[in-house]
Amino acid sequence: MPLIHCEGVSKYYRMGDEPVHALDNVSFDVEQGEFVAIMGPSGSGKSTLMNIIGCLDVADQGQYDLDGTAVARLKDNQLAEIRNRKIGFVFQSFNLLPRLSAYENVELPLTYRGVPRKERAILVTKALESVELLDRKAHRPAELSGGQQQRIAIARALAGDPPILLADEPTGALDTRTGQEIMELLKRLHALGRTIIVITHDPAIASQAQRIIRIRDGRIVV
Ligand code: ADP
Ligand code: ADP
Repeated sequence: MPLIHCEGVSKYYRMGDEPVHALDNVSFDVEQGEFVAIMGPSGSGKSTLMNIIGCLDVADQGQYDLDGTAVARLKDNQLAEIRNRKIGFVFQSFNLLPRLSAYENVELPLTYRGVPRKERAILVTKALESVELLDRKAHRPAELSGGQQQRIAIARALAGDPPILLADEPTGALDTRTGQEIMELLKRLHALGRTIIVITHDPAIASQAQRIIRIRDGRIVV
């Protein structure tokens, strides 16, 4: 069974009288352990697709199964629950909380999920080690370089051990060299067995994945 199964997924937005077909009959699978890039130009539907894959939104038509669960049938609270268990999000702009230390940023989602303190300490330490930033755990985001901030954000995404890491333009706010370091980190995490999906407009980023899913005008291009 694929980890992600999209079949005939469509999503519309209404702009006045005209419906915008943000996703039009999109079908693809992602298997456990794959490293996939979803690539397309601005306006092609990447964010819409990311929101559906990440259970932030549901399709208007079609089937989306996440690790065997039919997402369209879930209620809002169940959607949040499957999102928290299955997906680790990484964003272009890091989205770290500025007043919290690196450690506290990584810990926060675990606290929300009710993970007890001792177990949190083990998970946070492990996650910070996996991005090689345990020695920066007391730093606040502003005291870290951009690349380090993104690595903290990756540690936060990994702390709960989700099967999928979903990264939206993870190198978009970084210079080329630092962005490449983030890609190398994602490759190492992939080599350790994590399923990784990177959403990008950048062919130089997408070409580093095992497989590219190209999207244009809301459709998969083959
Ligand atoms: P990308 O992430 O590739 O830039 P999006 O998924 O954001 O693409 O957008 C796909 C299409 O849907 C575009 O035509 C965009 O203008 C439209 N769209 C996205 N979000 C909305 C919205 N909330 N309301 C109306 N149209 C939207
Ligand atoms: P990089 O070599 O990854 O580009 P920097 O040269 O920006 O990183 O930072 C080197 C070290 O200095 C980092 O490990 C970081 O912890 C620390 N550092 C960076 N910026 C600040 C700052 N504004 N205040 C305190 N420490 C900082």
